[in-house]
Amino acid sequence: MKVHEFQAKSVLAGFGVPIPRGDVADSPSAARAVAERLGSPVVVKAQIHAGGRGLAGGIKTAATPAEAETSAASLLGSLLVTPQTGPRGKRVRLVLVEEAVNAARELYLGLAIDPSKEAIVIMASAVGGVGIEEAATRAPGLIYKEYVPAGGRFQDSQGREIASALGLEGKTFEQGVKVATALYRAFEATDASLVETNPLAATGRGDLMALDARMVFDDNALGRRPDIRALRDPGEESPLEVEASRSNLSYVKLDGDVGCMVNGAGLAMATMDIIQQAGGRPANFLDVGGGVTEAAAANAFKILVSDPDVKGALINIFGGIVRCDTIAAGIVRAARETGSRIPVVIRLEGTNADEGKAILRASGLAFHPADGMRAAAEKIVSLVRAAGRRGSGT
Ligand code: GDP
Ligand code: MN
Repeated sequence: MKVHEFQAKSVLAGFGVPIPRGDVADSPSAARAVAERLGSPVVVKAQIHAGGRGLAGGIKTAATPAEAETSAASLLGSLLVTPQTGPRGKRVRLVLVEEAVNAARELYLGLAIDPSKEAIVIMASAVGGVGIEEAATRAPGLIYKEYVPAGGRFQDSQGREIASALGLEGKTFEQGVKVATALYRAFEATDASLVETNPLAATGRGDLMALDARMVFDDNALGRRPDIRALRDPGEESPLEVEASRSNLSYVKLDGDVGCMVNGAGLAMATMDIIQQAGGRPANFLDVGGGVTEAAAANAFKILVSDPDVKGALINIFGGIVRCDTIAAGIVRAARETGSRIPVVIRLEGTNADEGKAILRASGLAFHPADGMRAAAEKIVSLVRAAGRRGSGT
């Protein structure tokens, strides 16, 4: 789960990371009021669940409260397109108004999970700021890395290595150790999968301050982190993603036209690969998981067909704990209720597959049964193509 910059900053401040004074605003007049209260030049920052805002015009400095109002007016309601938003961009509904801090140097600190090393990786660079992604691709050596193996502890010596990699000295060095340690604690204590501050500014006075912050949390841990779960902003997620998470389904929107409904993440990956091999493009990744009920299967099908990009669906179920007849009953119910007319190829294998196929046949609905994954993928791709040719009227 992603959160906004202002939320990430408030979480990190709770662990002792220094952040600028500021507040969020949802209208130009509210932004002006925050700037008045701060009584200094400010930065007005678009709050969207994506980075790359600086280069896309989403960060504006304002010398006076009146300028802050104008900046907020130009940002609020606008569509921000950055390399991280996708081509459709994201609508700005909130801005963060903060005291402008003079950065003598811009540093980078980030924490993530490195699955291949089974460790938390702490990344540091003395050359942070908006160009870091590009700079690091050209010269990977720019990023210094420390690892804390799963179950291990972040050592003081690692904090010092990081502070020297950031090029800090004297009292700023000590602050660097503290900030790195605080970020690590925050990462662990919130079940984060990503914590990033870029830039971490070193001010002219030699103080460190996180001018930007990003956090992503492990969805599977939200059950035990109600305070983090409360930070969810459904307005930033596509309505279908919100609907899916309500039904306990994992759903990821992609940019193709073949909807996929599967059980299990491994089968989802394999299904997407095979659709691609058959010359098609998956429109999503919808995993109903294990132990799915008829109602959840019906919801999954409804989510699938309500995406206007989906021109056909491939349902690929390998029944283990999940029973194929349960899935089939859910699909039949949802297909009747939605009256959807898109082609649907269904492959059922494993527990109660024969019962499931019988339910599909008895429904009288025009499903396309398929045996085997490859055959199923080839069939849906050709059906979607045929429908496209008819639809284009040529
Ligand atoms: P991003 O582009 O989405 O990562 O947004 P950032 O919050 O990192 O802002 C982009 C750039 O704006 C930063 O790299 C800074 O150079 C600048 N910036 C952001 N906040 C402040 C601030 O409070 N003071 C100053 N002087 N610059 C800021
Ligand atoms: Mn940034």
